[in-house]
Amino acid sequence: MTEAELLEKGYRKYLGKDIDVYFNTQICEHSGNCVQGNGEIFNLDRKPWILPDNASKEEVMRVIDTCPSGALQYIQKEGQKND
Ligand code: SF4
Repeated sequence: MTEAELLEKGYRKYLGKDIDVYFNTQICEHSGNCVQGNGEIFNLDRKPWILPDNASKEEVMRVIDTCPSGALQYIQKEGQKND
């Protein structure tokens, strides 16, 4: 999905340096895979609760790939020269 499609579907964006994370609370099944997978990236006691830069891009993708509902999505910033 493109960012525009995600935002249209009600996903909220969490900005990262190498990767952006998108979360849709209405889709979340509360399985806990995200916070258990990496509490540095995903921490419900913190605002914002998702910090994509607290781990490598690969780790962000690994954990999000374990989300069973699709509530978490990511878009890599490959090709963008922001540095
Ligand atoms: S892994 Fe996905 S479905 Fe489970 S709590 Fe996290 S966002 Fe929700």
